Parts: sequence; structure tokens; C-alpha cells
Amino acid sequence: MATSGETDWVSRFADQVISEAEKRAPGTPIVCASGLSPSGPIHLGNLREVMTPHLVADEIRRRGVACTHLLSWDDYDRFRRVPAGIDPSWAEHIGKPLTSVPAPPGSPHVNWAEHFKAPMIEAMAELGVQCRMISQTEQYTSGAYREQILLAVRERATIDAVLSRHRSKQVEDYFPYKPYCDLCGRDLTTVTAYDDETTELAYTCECGFGETVRLAEHDHGKLVWKVDWPMRWAYEGVIFEPSGVDHHSPGSAWTVGGKIVSDVFGGRQPIGPMYAFVGITGMAKMSSSKGDVPTPADALEIMEAPVLRWLYARRKPAQSFKIAFDQEIHRLYDEWDALGRKVAAGQTQPAELAAYDRAVHTAEGPLPVTPHPVPYRTLASIVDITTGHTEQTLRILRDLDGIGDLDAARPRLDRAQRWVDAHLPADQRTRVREAPDEELLDSLGTSERESLRLLADGLDDWSLDGLTTLVYGVPKLQAGLPADAEPTPELKAAQRAFFALLYRLLVGRDTGPRLPTLLLAVGADRVRKLVGA
Ligand SMILES: [Zn+2]
Repeated sequence: MATSGETDWVSRFADQVISEAEKRAPGTPIVCASGLSPSGPIHLGNLREVMTPHLVADEIRRRGVACTHLLSWDDYDRFRRVPAGIDPSWAEHIGKPLTSVPAPPGSPHVNWAEHFKAPMIEAMAELGVQCRMISQTEQYTSGAYREQILLAVRERATIDAVLSRHRSKQVEDYFPYKPYCDLCGRDLTTVTAYDDETTELAYTCECGFGETVRLAEHDHGKLVWKVDWPMRWAYEGVIFEPSGVDHHSPGSAWTVGGKIVSDVFGGRQPIGPMYAFVGITGMAKMSSSKGDVPTPADALEIMEAPVLRWLYARRKPAQSFKIAFDQEIHRLYDEWDALGRKVAAGQTQPAELAAYDRAVHTAEGPLPVTPHPVPYRTLASIVDITTGHTEQTLRILRDLDGIGDLDAARPRLDRAQRWVDAHLPADQRTRVREAPDEELLDSLGTSERESLRLLADGLDDWSLDGLTTLVYGVPKLQAGLPADAEPTPELKAAQRAFFALLYRLLVGRDTGPRLPTLLLAVGADRVRKLVGA
């Protein structure tokens, strides 16, 4: 039933995971897992934590094998610090579970954790990521982990022995469970006594409160992280869970977790590749009202979901890569469109095709694509020149590519619009002149005047191809060369000079968007007026 693809890293992991699951838990749905902390905005870099298991789980489902992608929200973790931009009075909540901290002012959400989960959940839906979300607050406070907690506490000496191999100094009275204080709600607590027979646990809190509870009935505390993670591997039967490079040093949670899950919980460590860092470029200049942290939602504002999926699908987890918010996104889209053409022509390598396929659809179905994908850099130029004016944009797209309805160019058009608005620096924006530059026009020599007349006379072929031939052809015509003449250094210099003159007359600078696109955008009548012909 489960046939191997062997085409890319995703199918290789799917092979391994299926074969491992058949050994560990035959007949039950395979479990792939991710974990995220909603302690603040979910950084775009953390999307790999979700995308890696998503792609593997999706491949397993494509093969017709039942597979669940669990996303554990670590929302029962303590609130550690007040981020920049939040009222400093939130410091009083430090030490409480993230679900017990009020949401930032003005938020429609019930608490801090939900406020930061919401945009990530929305982004995952847009990306086609299907997962079952688990709130660790619900798990702990409902007593779901009661047996596991009692077991970990009973085996605390075993856990301590594992951890002590990596500690430089000994810890006295190691205890793997941290109660949240029943009076102040914070975790500034110290366990002062524990009775294995009765499970009576005494703690004191820095607030002055102290009490004795029965751990067998206590649902207001949690296992420490290095015990909590392996406990969940066993509890959920996780077969695949990747993690970041920071979890893989000696003594870190992944390493000690492998020992704790078997020695204490009788489970096994998942197959867990280490994934490399995902960098972000071009966000520095961006002013964000959301705390200057690039999030998956920010990326989805400027690129379509399949393109963002493709970035993750085409790189092995161990390869780092960068997500561009600057002009690099034009190149990324050029590559994406080139791949689409190769796919249509049936000329792709198996791994390329697999990455494309994972980008554009999931086991559940296809993701939305732009019906008429005009190059991103062209769309960016158009919305830059028209300042987003829809009628002008439609006119240009009609002239450019025969598009009769802006919806045919969406959602890519909207992404390019957003990119121009948010990420194109003000000094690189194009402003078409309102009136001719009379001073410049008066200063021109005979040859320059003639080049402008030739341009104005040639504007009849009002198409991208026609205008491309025209702007390159004028200098050829002036040099007495045929239209199909090969470029010489002299001709190239003449073309550069002609282009610079046109840019100065049209947009008052030496450079700008590609000239044929610019001419289309400006319109024939206005071009004639601005070049004085
Ligand atoms: Zn307290």
C-alpha cells in the first residue's frame, strides 16, 4: 500500500517514518509532531518547526496512510519577560502560565497565548497545513498527564542521573515538577517536601504563600521542559518530530530526552532531524506595528502560499536558507515562474517536480494559484507607477498581456502591491513627471531630439514586444543599423544613453522600472507630451 517515492528528502523521511511506525505501533495512525510557544509573535523562522513535519505527514497521507500532525502549543509555559512595546505593568504576570496572562491592550483575544496563536493559526490555514492542535494548558489542568507526572516524580532519581551527566555542579533534591502557586498564580515556587506514599507535596512561594497538596490530585503545575518533552513523545506515540539546532547540543533537551523517554516513560525517541536556521533579509528597513518581528503572516502578505511552501519543500531540513522581503523576492518569483514553465513542458528533474508538487497542493487538494501569473517584478513596477490605481493597472495589464479582469492577476497582484507599499524604499519609488522637463528638453542636441521623435513616431505598436523592439531599435536606426543588428560596444553605449535620457524625461531619475513596462504604464499620449514630441 505504502509505495516509496524516493524522489526527495520528504519522501525519504516518509519511507523511514512509515517503516518505523510499522515496528512501533502497527495499525494506528502515524503521529508527526511540532511544538510552538505563544510567548510572543511567532517568528517566521519558526515556521520550519511546522512545515517540516507538515510536508512529511502530507506525503504519508498522499500514500493513503493515516497520519496525524500534532501541534503542541506550549501555552502552559511561564511568561518570561515583557516584550518591547507592551506596558511595563505586565511584569506583574511574569511567572504565570501564558494562558493566565491578559492579552495585550486592545486585543480581542481572551489571553496572551491566544492572542499570539491566532495569526499563526490563520497563516497555517492559508498554507494548507492541517494539524491537530493541543493546548498544554488544557492537558495539564485537566489531569491528562497525571500518571506521567506521578511516574516522573517517582523516577526523579533516574532523571537526575541522566541530567547530572551534563551538569557542571550537582543539584540538591532534584524535582521534575513545578507547581504554580495557588495564591499568586506564578511559578516562583520551591518544593520543600514530597512523600512518595501519599504523594503529599509541600511547596513555598516567593510571594510568602505555602501549602501542602496531593500531587495525585494536583492540576496546577507542570513537568520541567526536559522531562515534559520526552513524556509527550511517549504519551502521543510521536514517530517524527524535528527540532532546531539549539536543541541538539550535549545535555540539551533532545539529547537527554532520548534517554529519559526510554528509561522513565518506556517510550522511544522520534525520528528527529535537526533543522537549520531560516534567515530573513530586507526586514530591517520595515517599520512594523507588530513589534518588528517578521511573522509567517508578514511573508504571506507579499508572497503566495505555494511560493512560501516551495521554499521549505525544496531545501533539506539541514540546509539553511533566507526568506527575502527586499528586491530578492523578484528573483525568487522569476525562479518560481521558470519552474512552472518547466513543469508545464515536462522538463523537470524528479526532485524539482516533487518540490513543485508539494508547493501547489496537499493531500487535501490544490492551493489557490494566480490564474494569469504576470511576472512579480512587472506587477511591482506597475503598482509602483500607478500607485495602485485599479483602472490604470487594468489598462496596463490589458495592453501588456491581454488581461481583461484584475482578478485574473490575483492574488499575486495583491502580494506585489503589498510589497511595494511596505518594502519598496521611498527613494526607489517611481514618480512619473506631471509636466515636461522644459529645461532638459531645451538643452538637447539634434541627435537626441531625433531619437525622441523616432520614439514618438514608433509608439503605434503598443504592446510589450513592440515597445521593447522600439526602445532598443531607436539607437540602431540612428546608427544606420538594421533592426536585427547584433549589439556592439558602441551600440550598447548609445542604448544606455538613450535609456537614461528617457528615464530623466519620464521619471526625473537616471534609472527606473524596465522601459517598455514604464512606457505602457505612462501611456502613449503622456509619453509624447513628456518627450516633447
Ligand atoms: Zn505565590
